[in-house]
Amino acid sequence: MAPIIASPDAFAQSTEYAEVLNRLTHTIPELRQAGYVVQSLSYLDLERKKRCDNCNTRCTRDTTQPLSKANSIPSPGTKYSDRQLQPQPRKDSEKEKTPAEETLRCKFHPGKYVKKKWTCCGNPGSAKPCGGATEHKARIYGPRELEGRWQFHQTPGLSTQPERCAAVAIDCEMGTAFDGESELIRLSMVDYFSGAILIDKLVFPSVKIQHYNTRWSGVTALQMDKAYRRGQCIMGMGAARREVLEFVGPGTIVVGHGAQNDFSSLRWIHHRVIDSYLIENAIAKKEAQAEADELAAKLATATGPESSTSAESIKAPPAQQKAGMSLKALIKRRCGRDIQTKGKNGHDSLEDAVAARDLVHFHVMALLEDAVTM
Ligand SMILES: [Zn+2]
Ligand SMILES: [Zn+2]
Repeated sequence: MAPIIASPDAFAQSTEYAEVLNRLTHTIPELRQAGYVVQSLSYLDLERKKRCDNCNTRCTRDTTQPLSKANSIPSPGTKYSDRQLQPQPRKDSEKEKTPAEETLRCKFHPGKYVKKKWTCCGNPGSAKPCGGATEHKARIYGPRELEGRWQFHQTPGLSTQPERCAAVAIDCEMGTAFDGESELIRLSMVDYFSGAILIDKLVFPSVKIQHYNTRWSGVTALQMDKAYRRGQCIMGMGAARREVLEFVGPGTIVVGHGAQNDFSSLRWIHHRVIDSYLIENAIAKKEAQAEADELAAKLATATGPESSTSAESIKAPPAQQKAGMSLKALIKRRCGRDIQTKGKNGHDSLEDAVAARDLVHFHVMALLEDAVTM
């Protein structure tokens, strides 16, 4: 991939700047709420990662949920999706079901897939399952397989290692593993203050890969193959996390945009995070509420207190309705810069890490100048 230079301008590391940056870090409940993993997975969490040998859905039976319509045989023409195979709460109208309709929790083709057809029913690969079983059958996992693949690791506490960065910005690209899980394939990290590139490497997947999601990740199988043969890859997500921890200590602030998936792909728990998406989302919510309040006030003045239109009924629209919460839209709006312009080549995690950093810098400066109240 073509190396790009991180923003040429380094940010001045003043006490005031550091204070504002510190203020922008999220609390652990905020991070959890946004989908970050904030503590090691329990034995049960790991068990829930198991997939069915027959139908490949997550197969830990949730005994609190009754069997439902979603688990019965779909009628012809029903669109078959993974979601439909998840246990769903039963509605009252679905109580009267014959046992036959409720017996198949696991649906699959019992035959083999040969020459683009299922031997059981002769249908093409995308056809909905023609058979099933009452229960899922968990794949056989090796003694440490679940732990090795899924366990999260917290940034180690104080060590004798040399000093780490005060702040970094990170972004990852992910492919799809053989079983449909997301798998880390590229890691980029820059020093927040100097803008220096700390890591920008392809990560050779720890498991077999189904596809590299090239359209989004920008990573091709050929690139991976080349980098592997030249010894330029980081070998697996564990090694990737260890490389990150060469630069990141418990006090380091890690910046990213919607970075919960990046942390997950590294199986990494870190408690000092600034997520530019969360900052922007909070601002968008405030702005939407302010607009709604203003509109309500206008209505109240125009129609008088006896009006049937209740000013209190005007609610702020959800922040997401405010278009353009993507990194691309935000960096254009805040910094006037175009990113992700390479069309079919997808994202560039280095470019995105730099963009998240610049977005946070914008908000720090705005707070310093008191231009934005948060
Ligand atoms: Zn079949
Ligand atoms: Zn199954």
